[in-house]
Amino acid sequence: MPVSSGLGLDSSAVRARMVAKLAEQGVKDPWVLQAMGQVERHRFVETALAGQAYEDTSLPIGLGQTISKPNVVARMIELLRQDAPGKLGRVLEIGTGCGYQAAVLSLVATEVYSVERLRGLHEKAKKNLLPFRLPNVHLMLGDGMLGFPKGAPYAGIISAAGGEEVPSVWLEQLAVGARLVAPTVTASRHQALVVIRRTTTGFDRQILEAVHFVPLKSGIA
Ligand code: SAH
Repeated sequence: MPVSSGLGLDSSAVRARMVAKLAEQGVKDPWVLQAMGQVERHRFVETALAGQAYEDTSLPIGLGQTISKPNVVARMIELLRQDAPGKLGRVLEIGTGCGYQAAVLSLVATEVYSVERLRGLHEKAKKNLLPFRLPNVHLMLGDGMLGFPKGAPYAGIISAAGGEEVPSVWLEQLAVGARLVAPTVTASRHQALVVIRRTTTGFDRQILEAVHFVPLKSGIA
């Protein structure tokens, strides 16, 4: 395939291969596999990187930030959706970045609220998402450490940036039965995926595999 085409002509075959690999790696949720097969990841990276868009690798998106590996995006959304029989309800994403994960989320949730603290990336995501025409994606410039109270309670909260701990406002904005998935520094000083489920009486917390996400920072820049 001519990579110089930017994969523009027909990228569905490459994406189907990526989805097959995700399934081999253990992703089972049909909603997630279908969404990963649908969203054209190459449209979210620089043309020079388009040839790598369907490889299992993270890629730079500007301003020192990265788009996560497809495998990590799929894994986190699968964790977020555990037990959901169909579409999830309203979801909050912290760290819009280039907008790729927001696009995937838009196919598995009814509404997606996504907050980005860097103006440059917020604008880039807006531009990237325009041709996809996704009326259920709402992009906000703001400090995601505060969550986004207007959309709460959420059926799921997912963070693409990792902090020292999970901000307590995120937990407050979670609906009962909903999950939060976020890279967080654990007691061993390493970053791992943390899944927190809100129950009727409190919160269940699980620490899963080690991950490497960009840091969660406060304020807008
Ligand atoms: N989901 C993104 C991944 C972007 S990387 C994608 O698909 O491209 C994580 C992003 O989190 C970065 O853009 C970074 O600027 C942003 N971020 C870090 N701290 C944040 C905060 N407090 N509020 C909002 N965004 C934040």
